[in-house]
Amino acid sequence: MLVALNETENIVNLLELNPTYLADLARQFLRCPACKSQVRLKNGRIKTPHFAHVSLATCQYYSENESLQHLTLKKRLYHWFKQTEQVEIEHFLPDLQQTPDLLVNKTLAIEIQCSHLSIQRLRERTEMYRANGYTVLWLMGKDLWLDENMTEFKRQLLYLTQNAGFYYWELDLQREKLRLKYLCHEDLTGRLHHLQREFDFDSGCLLQVLRTPFASTSEKLIVQLSQDIQTFITRQLYYQSPKWLKIQEKYYQNGRNLMTVKNFPIKVYPIGLNVLTRQFEGVIKPEFCQITNDVSVYYNHFIAYLQDETFYPPGFYAKVAKKRDA
Ligand SMILES: [Zn+2]
Repeated sequence: MLVALNETENIVNLLELNPTYLADLARQFLRCPACKSQVRLKNGRIKTPHFAHVSLATCQYYSENESLQHLTLKKRLYHWFKQTEQVEIEHFLPDLQQTPDLLVNKTLAIEIQCSHLSIQRLRERTEMYRANGYTVLWLMGKDLWLDENMTEFKRQLLYLTQNAGFYYWELDLQREKLRLKYLCHEDLTGRLHHLQREFDFDSGCLLQVLRTPFASTSEKLIVQLSQDIQTFITRQLYYQSPKWLKIQEKYYQNGRNLMTVKNFPIKVYPIGLNVLTRQFEGVIKPEFCQITNDVSVYYNHFIAYLQDETFYPPGFYAKVAKKRDA
């Protein structure tokens, strides 16, 4: 942790402290702003100076085992925000019993997530912020970057706008970049497709950068599948992939056979749209922890448009639907 209460009950923020005062600080009686138990200044050679609880009893509000990546990113974003916004680091919110990494302009909570947590915990924390009038934005460290396939956990960290579709934020400390992956789609083989944009640390207004997914754009995603879907499915069933066996079972139950489907009308689709069993189950609305708007509207417009290789943001399909219905 980077903040502590000093003897006069004031918050000491290590990022704002003149290094010459560090020695003096080490002699003071310091406490955790949340649990109020004693903390001590750690001024090692590898990690940046930070505070740690003296007692081994864990404090649930501040993490002691933050990685160097997490600490450094927090520091970097704090300074980047500070150029244009009012920002607090590790500000304990007693009503929520939570400590966002950064609190921007008193309303935007920034969480730099560098490791897994349970989906339930993620949901609780997100809903707690929302219920108390905060917006929470999760920015993901290296271990949580998107890769070839979407996982259930990462899906809970996706956001959605009319102009960027499903999107995801990544922090690249090594290259000093904030990365936006947007128009996230997946294909029938489970492979992820998206566009991406990178922003250099410290260049421009960070709040403005974080609003990028709301800006209107004419960009589109073009996907050319490298694999024949039918061959892929045949192989999956041959090797008894549990996922595909389950889908095949659903087909059987409905008197169909997945192997004999000649052509799949939808091979690439927005994240979470269940295209394979949709004909039996209808459009099922999946859970998205960070998304409060109704994704099935986007799905329905997408299905109605039906195109093969080019994919647009939800706003595009909504416009087409509006024109068609007019
Ligand atoms: Zn504490």
